[in-house]
Amino acid sequence: MNIPCDEIISIIHSSSMPIPTPLVSRHVAVVGAGAGGLVAARELRNEGHSVVVYENQSRLGGTWVYDPDVESDPICQDPSRTMIHSSLYDSLRTNLPREAMGFRDFPFVAKDGIGRDARRFPGHKEVLMYLEDFADEFRIGEMIRFDSEVRYVGLVDGGKWRLRSWEKRDGEFEDVYDAVVVCNGHYAEPKIADIPGIGCWPGKQMHSHNYRVPEPFRDQVVVLIGSAASAVDISIDIAAVAKEVHIASRSAKEVALGKQPGYKNMWLHSMITSAHEDGTVVFQDGSKILANVILHCTGYKYHFPFLDTSGMVTVDDSRVGPLYKHVFPPALAPGLSFVGLPWKVVPFPLCELQSKWIAGVLSGRISLPSQEEMMEDIEAFYTKLEAAGIPKRYTHNCADCQFEYGDWLATKCGCHGSEEWRKEMYSQSSKTRHEKPGSYRDEWSNNQLFLQALEDFRKFLPPALIDILCNSL
Ligand SMILES: Cc1cc2nc3c(=O)[nH]c(=O)nc-3n(C[C@H](O)[C@H](O)[C@H](O)COP(=O)(O)OP(=O)(O)OC[C@H]3O[C@@H](n4cnc5c(N)ncnc54)[C@H](O)[C@@H]3O)c2cc1C
Repeated sequence: MNIPCDEIISIIHSSSMPIPTPLVSRHVAVVGAGAGGLVAARELRNEGHSVVVYENQSRLGGTWVYDPDVESDPICQDPSRTMIHSSLYDSLRTNLPREAMGFRDFPFVAKDGIGRDARRFPGHKEVLMYLEDFADEFRIGEMIRFDSEVRYVGLVDGGKWRLRSWEKRDGEFEDVYDAVVVCNGHYAEPKIADIPGIGCWPGKQMHSHNYRVPEPFRDQVVVLIGSAASAVDISIDIAAVAKEVHIASRSAKEVALGKQPGYKNMWLHSMITSAHEDGTVVFQDGSKILANVILHCTGYKYHFPFLDTSGMVTVDDSRVGPLYKHVFPPALAPGLSFVGLPWKVVPFPLCELQSKWIAGVLSGRISLPSQEEMMEDIEAFYTKLEAAGIPKRYTHNCADCQFEYGDWLATKCGCHGSEEWRKEMYSQSSKTRHEKPGSYRDEWSNNQLFLQALEDFRKFLPPALIDILCNSL
């Protein structure tokens, strides 16, 4: 490859690599300044790239910027509705212990200060403050163009990328980049359940994207569809004020159906089979109730309305593909990449590893297999999912392989893999979350893992702070 002189930014000399390797500096756009975009920007700049981050909101933090407002369409189906990015509800606390949740080299530990929340599973404001601390520490703000919505990203001649943005103050801009890293999040475009008869059902419907506080559900009979983490939180939130909460779950085990222990007004049902003009909702097990509200806690779609790849990257039944290791579309690599697509994972450290990999690939420090080899890998992955009976929509569900995947990325980047304490903390918190959904956040008893985490954090934090944190356990 012929590299222009002004693109050569550094020469690495190392004993294991006697021939100097010229690294290439690229001009890179990052779409989004949530956790993924922030860490992508840091890793790209560390690698020597010049970076511009486009952020539609007026502040950084993505999902963690709580917005008390809701969208104009409660079930988020009208394409012309006013859009809100964050799906956070007021009572939201993290579902992971903070130590496990944070970036690998910027520990998410309790801090003194106004508005800080020292709890192990803190409220959402604390996560936003942590992301702001991260951005301050690494001067990421100076790379961000706020109030700047990316409306078009497409390939131009010479393998570069045209990006058109709409800036609230100054209107439309067009820029050309060597590469674009997509970090726009995937909890903003809701999916709703398809319910036979819903068209003539007279009640109210809402998606959890628009759920903020329980008060509007006071004295109501609510049917809540879903069983993921936020469905569980919201059902508990609402049960405090609603007349009845009926949870309809695809994955409910038969033995668990019926009145829920510990709650006087909560029932678990199988899926809804139909809704009727008289206001009743009927479940698969034959039971029926007269309901006021259906609350869809039914998840979100991957959505890239700005991306024009001429069909080279598609979203099909929640599969974004084809993507090599959830990041690079082989035909467009390394100019286009995605950070943060995996779900049921610990997102911050995983985004960090994906970003390191992307940054290293773009500079030429890390090489990718050929396009054909990447496609073969993807085909083999899809075949494996199919053979195991895993539906397409679970392509990016990395619950069972996140640490293995993270370790693979770490090896490529030449850095350490996932810490043992982090893996164990994740697994223990997932278990206790299922066993005690209403209290797991405040009943953690195994301090040994936290001591291990704090020992690890000695690399990044002053010894006196570590001692204070250890003593507070
Ligand atoms: C209810 C809920 C609870 C969660 N709880 C936890 C938890 O406890 N722990 C945990 O680790 N994770 C949790 N998560 C996951 C959470 O999504 C991640 O922690 C993290 O926020 C993902 O960061 P991201 O950068 O990928 O996406 P986001 O945080 O969504 O950021 C994407 C950014 O891109 C911007 N953007 C989008 N489109 C454009 C565009 N066209 N132009 C410019 N900017 C654009 C958005 O404005 C946003 O700022 C939760 C998620 C939800 C929805």
